[in-house]
Amino acid sequence: MERKVFQLGDVVQMKKPHPCGTNEMEIIRMGMDIRIKCTGCQHSVLVPRAKFEKNLKKVLRSTAGSADSN
Ligand SMILES: [Zn+2]
Repeated sequence: MERKVFQLGDVVQMKKPHPCGTNEMEIIRMGMDIRIKCTGCQHSVLVPRAKFEKNLKKVLRSTAGSADSN
């Protein structure tokens, strides 16, 4: 089974595209709920973590790779 790993600042693709037609969301806040921002129309939504993980298709860009100097 593939494990979905995501973190703050990642750009993810959801199973259902946003009504504006963009299917890329940036994670701008993490906690019990996760706030994601549409990269197309800049609209942000707050979704429960369980729902987010269910609707997450894949992580497109992770911030982890570039900040690996520690
Ligand atoms: Zn949008």
